[in-house]
Amino acid sequence: MKKIVKFGGSSLASAEQFKKVGNIINADASRVYVVPSAPGKRFSEDTKVTDMLLHLYETAKEGKDLTEELAAIKARYDEIITGLELKDFSLDEDFAIIKKTLEEEPLVDYAASRGEFLNGKIMAAYLGVQFIDAADVIFFNSEGNLNDYKTNKTLSEQLKKYDRAVIPGFYGMGKDGKVKTFSRGGSDVTGSIVARACKADVYENWTDVSGFLVADPRIVDNPKAIKYITYRELRELSYMGASVLHEDAIFPVRRAGIPINIRNTNAPEDEGTWIVESTCQKQDYVVTGIAGKKDFCTIFITKAMMNAEIGFGRKVLQAFEENNISFEHMPSGIDTMTIVVHADEFIHKEQSVVSAIHRLAEPDSVEIESGLALVAVVGRGMKSASGTASKLFTALAAKGINIRMIDQGSSELNIIIGVKNSDFETAIKAIYDAFIVSK
Ligand code: ASP
Repeated sequence: MKKIVKFGGSSLASAEQFKKVGNIINADASRVYVVPSAPGKRFSEDTKVTDMLLHLYETAKEGKDLTEELAAIKARYDEIITGLELKDFSLDEDFAIIKKTLEEEPLVDYAASRGEFLNGKIMAAYLGVQFIDAADVIFFNSEGNLNDYKTNKTLSEQLKKYDRAVIPGFYGMGKDGKVKTFSRGGSDVTGSIVARACKADVYENWTDVSGFLVADPRIVDNPKAIKYITYRELRELSYMGASVLHEDAIFPVRRAGIPINIRNTNAPEDEGTWIVESTCQKQDYVVTGIAGKKDFCTIFITKAMMNAEIGFGRKVLQAFEENNISFEHMPSGIDTMTIVVHADEFIHKEQSVVSAIHRLAEPDSVEIESGLALVAVVGRGMKSASGTASKLFTALAAKGINIRMIDQGSSELNIIIGVKNSDFETAIKAIYDAFIVSK
């Protein structure tokens, strides 16, 4: 049994948190490879070390003196080193190199990546295991995407050399030989890549919540945690704005069939959420999760005999393509078609899209509307449970919410409804109550 353990920034923000992490790792001998983030916030007004480093980069770019900012960043690490009583360990030399490098050539990815690099060094010293610099084992191609083949080959060869190791998250090496980072939150991706490279049995992703929640806790009080969720369900929910994991973290492990277990560093006894390819586990509820986003626009197009006109849909979509706008949904009727887009992408191009639709598709009418919120009700159990839609619509009707759009999609595990922006929170609460509270 081999497990990869990735710890998020809040799990590594202080010496006290580091000790919890140490206990978690030492409690299970199969937790062999560790992927740390940079120190996150210790309290809500605190600053993440990555943000401090991004600011440091700005200062370096302006050619200003870095001493003061570097000292503040170093103090964060020294507090951890002292708290862990790491004798004969110091990051003095590393900080001197960082200062010199940024003065000579300020590069944003290099600066940002140092948060994980330095935390990885502390973690390796604390655990007494090998440190592997991610820049030596994770590679990007010239388009800036992960070079899958080279990374997997090099990383798996390196990992074979060490029974246990620490590999810092968030960065690797660019095609130009310079350090390159993933987008924010990218240590999740590193964890997934490491899990695949060593053919792990489980990818444990340790954070500060006890798993993936059924609904957003800012909208629903104390929502339940999801026990099991499939990769496909997770994809539908994260697409709709629910976030625990970096979106790209799913792909490497998903291809290798490795489950992800989301766990809470501050409550290690909680089982957390299992993200799996497929499961026979009995579900407590028909609905696995509810998520949504506000601020969509709809473009409602009518044309008599639209159903019989070959190529009509393509022409309409071409109008969006010409304007470089991606569409989110496309529910259609016999003589009608609705395109749903993000307001922020669409609003400043609306007239140019409408005229392109007229020019290309010659419709009878085009009407646009804004202020639409979309709510996705996701559950692998829905396809075999009867009455789901009726329960959903009854719950919304009871709250006086008018449904402006319904899209069941072809995935059979997702019903998307469109409501007014102002009904968004009420809709989510009503759905949660109907399916979870009084199931
Ligand atoms: N430290 C980076 C960030 O704050 C990456 C990560 O934590 O995953 O985005």
